Amino acid sequence: MRRLCSDVRGIVLSFTAMNKVVEIDTDNLMAVVEPGLTLQDFYKAIEGTGLFFPPHPGDEGATMGGVIAANAGGARAVKYGVIRNFVRGLEVVLADGTVTTLGGKLMKSSTGYSLLNLMIGSEGTLAS
Ligand SMILES: Cc1cc2nc3c(=O)[nH]c(=O)nc-3n(C[C@H](O)[C@H](O)[C@H](O)COP(=O)(O)OP(=O)(O)OC[C@H]3O[C@@H](n4cnc5c(N)ncnc54)[C@H](O)[C@@H]3O)c2cc1C
Repeated sequence: MRRLCSDVRGIVLSFTAMNKVVEIDTDNLMAVVEPGLTLQDFYKAIEGTGLFFPPHPGDEGATMGGVIAANAGGARAVKYGVIRNFVRGLEVVLADGTVTTLGGKLMKSSTGYSLLNLMIGSEGTLAS
């Protein structure tokens, strides 16, 4: 057992303190949030703004980082699509510590490989 544990290498990161809504941009129908924000808190934050965020996997305690890493869907995905269809940009930290921004508050960004879509659904294996 001891040997098995020492062979396992990895880093555990907690994003629970990064749980803020940075911006709700009603003009552009976009929001900027931190990865530890739960879906439940995000749904509450947009109440009364007239905005609707369709992705709704069964667990409202899931975090934004988690649902993006899992490319979560839920029943509404049948009509609106999975979370991939609602992520316009990500700021990610790579394994070597490089911080990079993919996409942004743009409806169209088609230059080069879609690294944004590579990150979405990558289960934390490529970046955080
Ligand atoms: C009751 C229930 C019902 C569900 N129903 C559905 C459903 O209908 N449809 C559906 O698609 N899913 C469903 N799910 C799955 C759900 O979408 C995922 O469990 C959830 O999105 C994971 O989010 P989390 O914050 O709990 O992430 P965690 O479970 O903590 O992490 C999930 C993965 O994402 C990675 N990760 C987490 N945060 C980050 C980050 N900031 N950066 C990089 N990687 C990260 C982790 O390493 C891990 O690999 C359901 C889950 C539950 C418990």
